[in-house]
Amino acid sequence: MGSKLNKDGIRVYCLCGDGELQEGQIWEAAMTASHYKLDNLCLIVDNNNLQIDGEVNKVMNVYPLEEKFKSFGFEVINVDGHNIQEIIDGFDVAKNVKGKPTVIIAKTIKGKGVSFMENQAGWHGKAPNEAEYKIAMNELKNRIKG
Ligand SMILES: [Mg+2]
Repeated sequence: MGSKLNKDGIRVYCLCGDGELQEGQIWEAAMTASHYKLDNLCLIVDNNNLQIDGEVNKVMNVYPLEEKFKSFGFEVINVDGHNIQEIIDGFDVAKNVKGKPTVIIAKTIKGKGVSFMENQAGWHGKAPNEAEYKIAMNELKNRIKG
C-alpha cells in the first residue's frame, strides 16, 4: 500500500503456505489488498495440502482456494509449483493485471524429489539427520542428472 501511495512502481511478492491460510489475518489482508486495488501485490500460495499437523483439508479446510480468492477480488492464476516456466509466466501475467491483486496458486508436493520425504507432513518441522541428509542429497543430484 505504501508503494502505491508513493507511486514508486515497486511490486510486492508474498509467499504463504496453505496451512497459513487458516489464519484470519490473511483474509483481512486479502480484503484490504482488494479494497485498495493493490495491483502491485502478487501473492504466491504454496499449495502442498500439508501443514505441521497433517493434511490441510482435514486440520481446517481452506478449499476451494480459487473461489475464495476470486470472491475476495483477486485475479487467480493456477500453476504447477514445480514448473519454473509456469511460475515465471504467472509473474508476467500478474504484472499486467490492473486494479486488483493477483494470487498464484502453486500446486506443490512437499519434499518433492526425496523418496522418504515426499508428501510426509512429519518433515514440516524437522531437519534430516546426517544419514538422511546424504540420501536426500544423492536423490536430488540424481534427479538433476537424470
Ligand atoms: Mg502447506
